[in-house]
Amino acid sequence: MITIPIEVSARHIHLSQPDLDLLFGFDYKLKPLKNISQTGQYAAEEKVALVNGNQKIDNIRVVGPTRPETQVELSLTEARRLGLEIPLAVSGNVAQATKLTVIGPQGQIDRHCAIIAQRHIHASLEDAKKYQLHDGQIVTVECGNQRAVVFRQVVVRVRADFVWNLHLDTDEANAAGLQGGETGLVII
Ligand SMILES: [Zn+2]
Repeated sequence: MITIPIEVSARHIHLSQPDLDLLFGFDYKLKPLKNISQTGQYAAEEKVALVNGNQKIDNIRVVGPTRPETQVELSLTEARRLGLEIPLAVSGNVAQATKLTVIGPQGQIDRHCAIIAQRHIHASLEDAKKYQLHDGQIVTVECGNQRAVVFRQVVVRVRADFVWNLHLDTDEANAAGLQGGETGLVII
């Protein structure tokens, strides 16, 4: 039996350093607020707003450190709120990402950066070996109690510094009555 801790990823943004500078000011440094489960990653104090036409979502948390490419991760509910069609993608793949406007205190940018993150498992090399999983593998995870949901199409992501966790977005977590901190059952 393979069990996995469940974490809920709320909407957030990863910024490139050039985009961080455009939004917050030249040579800006993010202010770490709280470490998150994946090694070296943190929720920053900084927040931005997302705009499409006359639709707007405030309080989008910046997750640091900066990355090569700016990426916004939203739920399908939030995509609808913005009136946007946003593709499902594995985090890091913004090739098909939807264009929107990001607004910070010092400026704004238009970027093809919005995705709905495909639900995924983070596994270290050791985890992958132990459970006989490989990067890109698709598995199923059973989650929840009274509102139990069987999540199919969960992609396994393997990287040396990853920490063993299932990441669901807020729509997925709400559907299964999950808050994060619960445990799921991986079915290969
Ligand atoms: Zn993740």
